[in-house]
Parts: sequence; C-alpha cells; structure tokens
Amino acid sequence: MEIETYLPQIAKDLKVDKERLEEEYRKGNILVGTDYKIPYLRFKKGEHDIEEGTVVFLGKQLVYARGFPKIRRAMFLKGALKKHLEGKFKAEEKLDGYNIRTVYLDEVVCLTRKGIVCPYTTEHVKELLKNSKFFEEHRDMMLCGEVVGLRNPYQTKSYPEAKEFGYFIFDIKDRKTGRSVSVEERDRLTVKYGLPCVRNFGVFTAKDSERLLALVRKLGSEGREGVVLKSLDMERQVKYTSNQSTNNDLRYAFKFVFDYGQQFMFRRLIREAFQAYELGLAGKELEKEAAELGKSILIPMVETIKRIAEGKEVTEDFEIAVPDATFGKAFVEHLKHLGVKATIEHVSKGKKETIIKVKRHYPSTNDKTRAYLSGEFCSD
Ligand code: ATP
Repeated sequence: MEIETYLPQIAKDLKVDKERLEEEYRKGNILVGTDYKIPYLRFKKGEHDIEEGTVVFLGKQLVYARGFPKIRRAMFLKGALKKHLEGKFKAEEKLDGYNIRTVYLDEVVCLTRKGIVCPYTTEHVKELLKNSKFFEEHRDMMLCGEVVGLRNPYQTKSYPEAKEFGYFIFDIKDRKTGRSVSVEERDRLTVKYGLPCVRNFGVFTAKDSERLLALVRKLGSEGREGVVLKSLDMERQVKYTSNQSTNNDLRYAFKFVFDYGQQFMFRRLIREAFQAYELGLAGKELEKEAAELGKSILIPMVETIKRIAEGKEVTEDFEIAVPDATFGKAFVEHLKHLGVKATIEHVSKGKKETIIKVKRHYPSTNDKTRAYLSGEFCSD
C-alpha cells in the first residue's frame, strides 16, 4: 500500500504542513497498523500539534481519532489550583485503569493510548454499547474513558462498581479535531445515551484546596486513586492522586523491580513528600506515613527475592473473558507484539464466554535477582 499517497489529504485534514508530515513518516514516527481489517496510521510521537496516539483509518473514507492529550499533574495542590485553575472547575474521580478511545467505523473500534486497536476491549465495549444509540446519532464523535476491572490485560484493578470489566466515560471529543464538548454537554450526552460516566464530586474553586485534599485522602483510604479537575469548558485539566494510591503503584513496581524504570519509582517518592508536606504531617503522623512508604518499597522486594530463592518465578496472573479459545490465543499473541511476555495457563469454556488465565512474565526481575542470589556482583 502506498502510504505516501494518503499524506497530502491527511495534512490538509489535520491542518499541518505536508512536507513535515512526509518527513515524520520517513523518520518512522508514523507507523502503519495492519492488525485490523482496515489498515491505519498511528502517530508514535506527539508532533506539530498532533497528539501521540492519533490514528487515521485508511478505509474508503479517512477516519480520524485524535490522541488523548497529557493531563498535567499537580504536586502541590494549593499552588497548582491558584496557578492553573482560575474560576470554577469540576472535580471528578480519576479511575485507575487504562485509557480507551472509542470511535465508530462500520462498527465500534477501541484504541489504546498509543493508538493500537485493542480487539479485546473492542469486543467488550461493543457489548456494553449495543443498546446505545450514541454513535448512530453522533458518528463524528469519539468517546474517551477508562477501562477498569480484574478481567483486563493491561491493568488489573477491581472497583466494587466494576469488578470484572467496566468502561467509564470522562470525555467526548470530535474525533477529527480532538476538541472536547463542555463538561455540561458531556454529562447531558452520557445521561441521554445511557453511557457509564466517572463519578462527579461537584464544582470547586481554587480556594477549596484543603477540601479537595481531604477528598483525595478519603478516596485513597477507600483504595481509589484520586481526582481530575476540569474547567467547565474542558480546556484546562489537572490530575492529583493520593499517597495511598502512590503506595499501590510502588508496591507493584518494587515487586518487579528490574522491569520498571527508576524514574517511575523516583517520581512517586517525590509526590509522597509533597502530599505529606501539604497535609502538614509531623511527628507520629509523619512517621506513620513514612512507615507505609517504607513498607511499600521493602516488603515486595523481599518477597520477590524470597520467591526466586525458592526456585519459583515471580509473575503476574490475570484473566480475560473472550468469545472463544481461538480469539483468546490470537489476543495473547497480540499482547506479545505489544511487548507483554505472556503465556496461557488455563482455558475454561463457559456458556456465554471462555475464561482464559494468563501469566505475565517479568524476565529482567527474575534473571537479575537469580544472578545476584548466585553471587553475581552488581555494578556499584
Ligand atoms: P498522561 O499522559 O495523561 O499523564 P499517564 O499514562 O501518565 O497519562 P495518568 O497519570 O494515570 O496517566 O493520568 C492520566 C490518565 O488518567 C488519562 O489518560 C485517563 O486515562 C485517566 N483518567 C481516569 N479518570 C479520568 C478522568 N475522570 N478524567 C480524565 N482522565 C482520567
């Protein structure tokens, strides 16, 4: 397929310079996906006002799905609100799952943050939307939401309202321009079309940092992540999460310590310090927070070392629910292409769906720990 022949039209539609687009393609920053029945381009890097993860389906008509932009993180809530969120804004729950954009071609199609068609999520979201007329009446729109639940291949966190699989909308955009509808319009559309939506905590102003901090800590104590604060026109967005949820990330990352980048851990340690400061923790309270942080680091690492010393492998186990075993096997192959090292452990065929138990492997953590246990030196 001659991709170059599509570039002038894409440049025109996305209002970017044709030569620069061609150069990005030559440099390998625009990739071709052939894993869906319609081939598609995906933007690997955010360049020239086009967000990372932007997709162009190369069917009879070009169909766009703009990438979901980065949401900036507040470290010190009081300061960030004053600086970045003037006037009224809404606080809504930040769910801890994976970002999925849904567009409609001749069927529902779900895209990951990087712009890869996810057959597994597509299958589930199709089922979820089968009675909704949203795409019948809004073909040019794109739903953006978080997938949570234990039965998912990327991030397994259960919520009481969605133990196995849930998709909660937090944004509705024009798929070609990426422009969001207002918060009010999004809420109207999600109600009208019966779409599940993230939880809304109401309207706040920059003076409410203490109240928001208390809300985030409460969410943290319930095992939830935090909030995203949005100006009513959706133009400005700020995320802020609880130390309790940061500890969850750390526990997970230190379990697979050599597979996670050091930046991942380091950034989270600093977040914890700013939150402890902003809460005014001192004395016993600060010591308690410090102990929790220490536990999140040391305990998973010691458990990992112990398990490997016993000759076992440290892995992550999860389940997926698929229409049949063939779909499941193809999907695990798809995960391998994405760089996830996974193997199928068990297949059980139910009446409605087939449940596949998958094991995810973390070779660096296992190999390096084993090497140290056998006496290898480390580099310092
Ligand atoms: P980013 O590049 O946006 O910083 P990230 O991969 O670092 O993304 P996070 O730090 O988890 O991710 O925060 C942003 C993500 O939070 C969004 O991409 C979205 O998937 C998710 N999210 C969950 N709930 C909401 C919500 N209510 N509003 C917006 N985003 C939400």
